Amino acid sequence: MRATVLHGRGDVRIENVPDARLIEPSDALVAVTRACICGSDLWPYQLMEPVETARRMGHEAIGVVEALGADVRTLKVGDVVVMPFAYSDGTCVFCQEGLHTSCVRGGFFGTVEVAGAQAEAVRVPQADGTLVALPVGADDALMPSLLTLSDVMGTGHHAARAAKVGRGKTVAVIGDGAVGLCGVVAARRLGAEQIIILGRHPDRLALAKAFGATDVVSERGEEAVARVRALTGGFGVHSVLECVGTDQAMRTAIGVVRPGGAVGRVGVPHYEAIPASEPAFYNNVTVGGGPAPVRAYIQELLPDVLEGRIEPGRVFDRVISLDQVPDGYRAMNERQAIKVMVKTSSR
Ligand SMILES: [Zn+2]
Repeated sequence: MRATVLHGRGDVRIENVPDARLIEPSDALVAVTRACICGSDLWPYQLMEPVETARRMGHEAIGVVEALGADVRTLKVGDVVVMPFAYSDGTCVFCQEGLHTSCVRGGFFGTVEVAGAQAEAVRVPQADGTLVALPVGADDALMPSLLTLSDVMGTGHHAARAAKVGRGKTVAVIGDGAVGLCGVVAARRLGAEQIIILGRHPDRLALAKAFGATDVVSERGEEAVARVRALTGGFGVHSVLECVGTDQAMRTAIGVVRPGGAVGRVGVPHYEAIPASEPAFYNNVTVGGGPAPVRAYIQELLPDVLEGRIEPGRVFDRVISLDQVPDGYRAMNERQAIKVMVKTSSR
């Protein structure tokens, strides 16, 4: 089968690899119909040393169940399923607490252990706990929004939860990538009154406004902090969704949050220590977040997608075939596309 393999910085290829197959009795084999390229895929795309082992990329997918291990109980061949970016058993102590990304039998797709989903097919461990069957056909018009439930919409929602967004709250969203834009959707959905998006790309900011952002701040650093404070009576916002992961983004987050407020961080951190710990301490700021347990959120968000109350699938502004994946990485890396959907031809 064909799959996406990252060999080093800027060197992503579509290659023929051994077919995905069942290994454990709890596995499902899923023929991928839709996958996508994630902002977090761009970190290894930009940084990976060529000496490292080649990586099979992709952690977001919708597909059709092709085969099931003997222990799988809740799925059947032919089910259309959405795959969260982490697999989980759904039964361990952390899954029961809704923190599926810490599952004791869990892990992540696109790693050395489990191959990625930017491929014709993917092996899904812990299929009963991981996959969610969708009540739609494989070519349903809602596919883009349903696909965001495998990562970016759940991640934006997690940022909003960690930042304690609620009715009437003021919110800042740092980052205008797909996760930040979904963070706007999530904040609006949870009843935020004012949503300030911090970003610099006109097309993305226009979409943020369509999703419910009330204000746009395109400055950076201290100027951005001053602008957000000016927009909030000098106090700052209750909730900050930090959707970037850099030292500067976290500094800005702590700079714009009001005393007693919360920062939800979902950008993979590319800093050693959380910066600005002194103002965070003196202002009683909560800093939370991490990899989103998107599996826990699918049940909550799915009805809103199916009934059209939210349309996070609008973050996809380019659709490509599997063979075009290297171009897709380039387009996202050069900020020519917000988020790229990969439509695979099923086998
Ligand atoms: Zn678990």
